[in-house]
Amino acid sequence: MKLHFHNTLGRKLQEFESLEPGRVGMYCCGPTVYHYAHIGNLRTYVNEDFLRRALEYAGYAVNHVVNITDVGHLTSDADDGDDKMEKGAAREGRTVWEIAAHYTEAFLRDWQRLNLLQPTHWPKATDYIPQQISLVQELESRGYAYRTSDALYFDTEKFAAYGDFAGIKMDKLLAGVRVDLGDKKNPTDFALWKISPKDKRRAMEWESPWGVGFPGWHVECSAMSTALIGKTLDIHCGGTDHIRVHHTNEIAQSECAHDGVPFARFWLHNEFLKTEDSDKMSKSSGEFLTLQVLVDRGFHALDYRYFCATAHYRKFLTFSWPNLESARDAHRAFRRRTAPLVAAFQASQVPSATLPGDAKIWQDRFEEALGQDLNIPKALGVAQTLARETALTEALRGRLLLDWDRVLGLSLEVSLPEPEAEAVDDDEAARIDALVAARTVARESKNWPEADRIRKELADLKVVVTDTPTGPTWKKA
Ligand code: AMP
Ligand code: ZN
Repeated sequence: MKLHFHNTLGRKLQEFESLEPGRVGMYCCGPTVYHYAHIGNLRTYVNEDFLRRALEYAGYAVNHVVNITDVGHLTSDADDGDDKMEKGAAREGRTVWEIAAHYTEAFLRDWQRLNLLQPTHWPKATDYIPQQISLVQELESRGYAYRTSDALYFDTEKFAAYGDFAGIKMDKLLAGVRVDLGDKKNPTDFALWKISPKDKRRAMEWESPWGVGFPGWHVECSAMSTALIGKTLDIHCGGTDHIRVHHTNEIAQSECAHDGVPFARFWLHNEFLKTEDSDKMSKSSGEFLTLQVLVDRGFHALDYRYFCATAHYRKFLTFSWPNLESARDAHRAFRRRTAPLVAAFQASQVPSATLPGDAKIWQDRFEEALGQDLNIPKALGVAQTLARETALTEALRGRLLLDWDRVLGLSLEVSLPEPEAEAVDDDEAARIDALVAARTVARESKNWPEADRIRKELADLKVVVTDTPTGPTWKKA
């Protein structure tokens, strides 16, 4: 089985081969545990799980590393702003360590609920301070670092390939942008080690050759990936927002510390989960939805996983309650179809060794979809079609579907509780009736902005409106 991935490095589809036959070293940038992960973050981890599973399906043993950022980095990529962990601690009246423990635990719970495979390693940044210090020392001894009053910076001008990965033209950047550089020599230079002010103790700080302080954000990924995988990674993943700064800086640090040894061979970047109003769901924007909010509204975590499977990882996926509801309906219909097939397979004891020719065609289709840049929506479509394909026996279809579920990760052998419709009290029902009536008026008078506003309001209330010949009807999802 051949896998092809769109490699951000070179920006083209490329056949995947690992450095070491049969083994893949895969590093995925993990969460900063100062708050709950939102469902946009989780989309990225679900897509990375599809990737991990597809690699294993193709026969690779995967050394999968996901870091936990528990050091309080600064809220801006430009090395200033507030410390995220300290902000979290102040918000909740707890210590930074309590904040880290609490949100790490919440993150791991989401991970499990989404049926994501456990990484081989979950390194915490605070457990790898010595490795980070020695990486920074390597860079300093090779002449890539310079000191200012408050930090040791990486000098991006010394790494000629700095802008290549993100396609940044350095001369244009330097000429075109007016930024307050502070003590930095170039706008793209970034902190390797931040030195604490003399008169202020930080909640998290460590001794170092440059003074008490803490490592720059990008340093941990370079240090931990080398420690747990090696100098060259087969695959490095993250969201598209990381290309320009975080991953560009990881490459610069790792390759300069390792005498030009390539840092990662394949870079896969996940496009964002967006909302209807914004291209990015983020913690700072109003739309901060967690998996728990979805569960509280009656969705199963696997409904969200299925929703993620409906879009290719390099395409935006738009979150709205009606979109999630449609995915849930499709997911539940799929399970209703597959349950008897899986049961038939489990009862039949069909030998797993060789597949009959007509089943092999289906297998090939599924694998082809995975091989084309991890086309999970297409692979899911093959599974949907197979579930309806009566030319194959139920047991054989069940066998194929269970095998494919190693990649889809929907736990098809388990039955999920049926979603419960939310109860609506009289006041809310009256309000919804009024909104639906106003929607009809707005549409009849072609007042589209008003119709759109009402549509959004109804969606927020989780109301699904269906137009029938006798007028609209509604139900709560
Ligand atoms: P963070 O905790 O902010 O570092 O984000 C964790 C991961 O989620 C990173 O790989 C981000 O690129 C990714 N991410 C952040 N926002 C979104 C979003 N709206 N949709 C998908 N991925 C996201
Ligand atoms: Zn990273």
